[in-house]
Amino acid sequence: MPKPVGPAGSRAVRADFGVSNWVEERVRDDLLGVWGDATVTGKPVHSDLDSRKKTLPVVAALNADTPAGATLVSLYHGDDPLDLGHAAELIERCGARVWGQARPTSCSTRPATTCARSTRASGRPASSTPWPASPPAATTERSTMPGPVVVLASPRSFCAGVERAVEIVERLLAQRGGPIHVRKQIVHNTHVVADLEARGAVFVDELAEVADGATVVFSAHGVSPAVRAEAERRGMEVVDATCPLVTKVHTEARRFAGRGDTVVLIGHADHEEVEGTLGEAPERTVLVQTLDDVATVEVDDPTRVSYLTQTTLAVDETAEIVAALRGRFPALKGPASADICYATTNRQDAVRAVADEADVVLVVGSENSSNSVRLVELVRRRGKPAHLIDDVTDIRPEWLVGKETVGLTAGASAPTHLLDDVIAALDAREVRVRETTRETVQFTLPLDVRPR
Ligand code: SF4
Repeated sequence: MPKPVGPAGSRAVRADFGVSNWVEERVRDDLLGVWGDATVTGKPVHSDLDSRKKTLPVVAALNADTPAGATLVSLYHGDDPLDLGHAAELIERCGARVWGQARPTSCSTRPATTCARSTRASGRPASSTPWPASPPAATTERSTMPGPVVVLASPRSFCAGVERAVEIVERLLAQRGGPIHVRKQIVHNTHVVADLEARGAVFVDELAEVADGATVVFSAHGVSPAVRAEAERRGMEVVDATCPLVTKVHTEARRFAGRGDTVVLIGHADHEEVEGTLGEAPERTVLVQTLDDVATVEVDDPTRVSYLTQTTLAVDETAEIVAALRGRFPALKGPASADICYATTNRQDAVRAVADEADVVLVVGSENSSNSVRLVELVRRRGKPAHLIDDVTDIRPEWLVGKETVGLTAGASAPTHLLDDVIAALDAREVRVRETTRETVQFTLPLDVRPR
């Protein structure tokens, strides 16, 4: 049975947050009061409110006497008045009532991206409902636990290829209005895709979903020659957002296959980039995904073998695979410069430095983001816990219990504002940046979308 918390007479109840007993003990004073038909998920922030469910985040409690029949509550998150104000707006948009003793701030004081996301998710414009008066008997208990130190990896977040791809779609939308069709996700991030969709982009899996003669954008991950040929045959206008560093790998695939080599492509079979690269010379390319695959890979002539890699692999694991390939095929040739791109390499170097200092590492990125997943794996290989989060709403309180130092980074397709949300939600008492290198790479835009 849940135990009551808060002052005598409070209607606050202890809910099941899905955490173990010792975690509950640790956060006992931080639990949130829940009334009426509300349920609690244990998520630390605003996702459920964003989706208009009557649930509340659990970070710190406001234990207040409430009128009978009250549906919802209010909450604190640390000492951040912006968070409180934003949460109040979200609660109001859910049609619930809010009480609180802290003065709310307007949602407009938060980063614009956060507010836009909330408004889109709720389907309603920001509420202008005034902050209701606190009920007379309200009493407040707040956590006095300080937030963790956050160690922020640098470089992190968007790379030049992602910046370019997103800008291409944005410019097309600005020039021509929607809908603009994009084959596959322009980059592997749910927030980027949702944001562009809301502005008129239409993401499709295959060209079959696009009318003949229409404009279509190819994503940053590239396409096979067969896809280009179909677009041409059907009279489509193609705007190519393929990252130039992916194009480099395609060019190498054609060159290596053209000189008669078997091309060993190191990568993940289900990734769009690999599908595209394989399509350059399918009859001469074989895929190797793991170290174990090296023992069984078959080639026409062991003296004529080249290798290429996906751009977003783990640098250390890939080096092992290449070494094993060279063990089997001593004449193995590779690209003149590494195919694993600068952004992938730099983010891995940076998170390695962060992992050494942190008790736990959070990686912001989507599940289908290869380079984000590699960052999580890298930290775990160093013996530290790491979690991939699409945004702040994925953080589970139990991950952070007893963690003094939280490492934070983002994959190359995750926007920066998502990290701002995480830092705010963690209520970090200090943010330290660990910069391992500074990036200056920029790619030019295709002619179709350059300013005239
Ligand atoms: S991660 Fe690398 S290859 Fe992929 S878009 Fe960014 S720079 Fe290009």
